[in-house]
Amino acid sequence: MKIRSITVYQVDLPLKEGRYSWADGKYVEVFDSTVVAIDTDEGVSGVGEVCPLGPFYLPAFGPGARAGIGELAPHLLGQDPTQIARINTVMDQALLGHPYAKSAIDMACWDILGRALNRPVCLLLGGRFGDAVALYRAISQRPAGEMADNVAQYRDEGYEKFQLKVGGNASDDVARIRAASAVLRSGETLVADANTGWLAPDAIRVANAVSDLDVYIEQPCLSYEKCLSVRDNTQLPFILDENIDGLDMLLRAYGDRAMDVINLKISKVGGLTKARQIRDLCVSLGIPMTIEDSWGGDIVTAAIAHIAHSTPEPYRFSSTDFNSYGTVNMADGAPKRTEGVMQASEKPGLGVTPRLPVLGDPVAKYE
Ligand code: MG
Repeated sequence: MKIRSITVYQVDLPLKEGRYSWADGKYVEVFDSTVVAIDTDEGVSGVGEVCPLGPFYLPAFGPGARAGIGELAPHLLGQDPTQIARINTVMDQALLGHPYAKSAIDMACWDILGRALNRPVCLLLGGRFGDAVALYRAISQRPAGEMADNVAQYRDEGYEKFQLKVGGNASDDVARIRAASAVLRSGETLVADANTGWLAPDAIRVANAVSDLDVYIEQPCLSYEKCLSVRDNTQLPFILDENIDGLDMLLRAYGDRAMDVINLKISKVGGLTKARQIRDLCVSLGIPMTIEDSWGGDIVTAAIAHIAHSTPEPYRFSSTDFNSYGTVNMADGAPKRTEGVMQASEKPGLGVTPRLPVLGDPVAKYE
């Protein structure tokens, strides 16, 4: 099988809540998503998606994804998309770094492999564990009382895991965590994710001020070293996200006992192939994971469902259904949340069919 063409679409993803706000006053109102469709000489096609969390969350941005795909495409035409390790080698030799630009292509190749073998991607990634994948709801940063109200509101939709967007003023963040914790019920999970927004002394203040609560602290500071210093000063369970951008950092952090849980985002590490490698290592090392992506629509949500559902349940800390947050339905067949869980499709590949009128005209086609 050979890649005959790579077609690129740009899709705007507005939010039901209007705005998604996190640390340092950062927010996004319309996400800039990129969809890739790969066609082959055997008539099998696949789709992938990459959607950065705005241009200032990770070193990634929407136009950058499309430029990177344009740089990679000439090297991929004529390659066999079902030989996915080879595809990744070709991409890594053609373009150093830029993992997010490679993610949608890698995802589309997994879709093609699944369709060619008539198997869902989750079976190719290791098998289906359990009935469903439990989801968390991100609680956009607002005044403390409003965030507590939102926890209660999203519980009514079935969620039992909540991730508070903190990383603002330390005193305000203590109030946010306390207010949300006060409405929490037994068995529910609360994470305070600072998204690198605290300086170490503020992070230590917050962690000390909520040390009596059942809450996880996620990615308090920008640098790994500063996160380590916070980790050394708190007993609260600790999650690293932004710093764990590949296998090297996972191994270093594991050696340093720098975290209890990691956040594994598909596009942060370059696609499903590399996410699977990290996922498998985390299972072997005993590290639970939030398995998700930076953002996305139906196609990213489908890919999350496949890699999460193929992960043994004790290691699935949580996952995200991004298609619940947005107003745009870009593909049929994507997982639909019910009572705070979702399932990977049982159809071949990712199990999604893009809605071409929603994708609009391609912004680029390489053939
Ligand atoms: Mg995070």
